[in-house]
Amino acid sequence: MRRVSVFGATGSIGENTFDLLMSQGGREAYRTVALTGGRNVARLAEMARALGAEVAVTAYDDCLADLKAALAGSGVEAAAGPAAIAAAADRPADWTMSAIVGAAGLVPGFRALAHGGTLALANKESLVTAGPMLMAKAAAHGARILPVDSEHSAVFQALVGEDMGTVEHITITASGGAFRDWPMERLVQATVAEASTHPNWAMGQRITIDSASMFNKALEMIEAREFFGIAPERIEVLVHPESLVHAMVGFRDGGMIAHLGAPDMRHAIGYALNWPERAHLPVARLDLARIGALTFRAPDPARYPALRLAREVMAVGGLCGAAFNAAKEAALDAFIAGRVGFTVMAEVVEAVLEALSQEGALGNGPGDLDMLLEADALARQRAAEVIARRQGS
Ligand code: NAD
Ligand code: MG
Repeated sequence: MRRVSVFGATGSIGENTFDLLMSQGGREAYRTVALTGGRNVARLAEMARALGAEVAVTAYDDCLADLKAALAGSGVEAAAGPAAIAAAADRPADWTMSAIVGAAGLVPGFRALAHGGTLALANKESLVTAGPMLMAKAAAHGARILPVDSEHSAVFQALVGEDMGTVEHITITASGGAFRDWPMERLVQATVAEASTHPNWAMGQRITIDSASMFNKALEMIEAREFFGIAPERIEVLVHPESLVHAMVGFRDGGMIAHLGAPDMRHAIGYALNWPERAHLPVARLDLARIGALTFRAPDPARYPALRLAREVMAVGGLCGAAFNAAKEAALDAFIAGRVGFTVMAEVVEAVLEALSQEGALGNGPGDLDMLLEADALARQRAAEVIARRQGS
């Protein structure tokens, strides 16, 4: 039986993964090693019982007592804290879902690669922060990373049987997010509630807000660069409000292969779960005659400064991805807390990158994981300073 672990099991990707594991046979078909979550310990315990997991881990020490109580009599071990999450990743599994949100997902995914199995990677922040290190670790242990981000799964599928040497460009699509049709002047006043609703996808709050600001697409450009090893100038972003074409690959003979599907993450998760097979998946089928038209447009650079920042980050390389992601996370925290406005997020990230660049803190490296985590911490500190200055002014 295939041993599986799910990091971030109680989130949006985690719930969809659980749904597929259950519909594909549950504990009869999989031996579940570890499931992790946050404060929703009731749901985590419910999932762990349903799948008969070895261990359930909450990210928070103060949730351990509740988790233990919820698991009483189940035979599932309970643990808490970041070290316990990392230790859970050290338990051998054949297939691991990395679906914690943010840079907190990096360490467990990195550690899971040591088992030489498959890492289904939803946590794009890992590749943005530590792309070359993750890819090298996978290669060293004979592990396979399969993309779960819908655009990257789409590209991966379009590339089956193809040679990267024949690829001219990769185009990832963007819905344009919650504010794509708002007049620019209004963006300054956009509220957290308004930014937290996505026109097409049901996702966690953070990625939904990142979709409205296009920071999500900025992260995905870097993710594409790291995962497919493609030059930054060959990565394109196209606004496609219907979210039905997820990505396209253009080849040197002028042909393009596009991947279409309903906006439902169970397709990409299911592809990674069943690869190299294609299993029957419970996602809606597209009726293109009814849909009628698909539309595309170039993203407006003034509306989406995050895309320009992503190109600058890729040009610098080194520790810049780690700093970019961390500054973005800090700016997003501040927006959610009501401390800065929607459009200020990009200004904060840009100011942090400028400051770190002047300090000479971005160029070299990454030498090892500790260096990356230091760059991450430094960027969060600079972001806090920038945010405090802006609030004081
Ligand atoms: P979510 O907020 O719904 O869930 C996040 C999960 O991580 C939860 O289980 C939460 O308890 C856990 N978590 C949060 N902070 C943690 C911490 N500090 N330490 C340990 N665990 C923590 O997020 P999501 O929307 O499911 O996204 C998860 C990842 O997948 C993100 O990297 C996101 O960018 C990526 N992704 C999501 C979607 C989607 O449809 N939701 C699509 C593509 C990529
Ligand atoms: Mg995506």
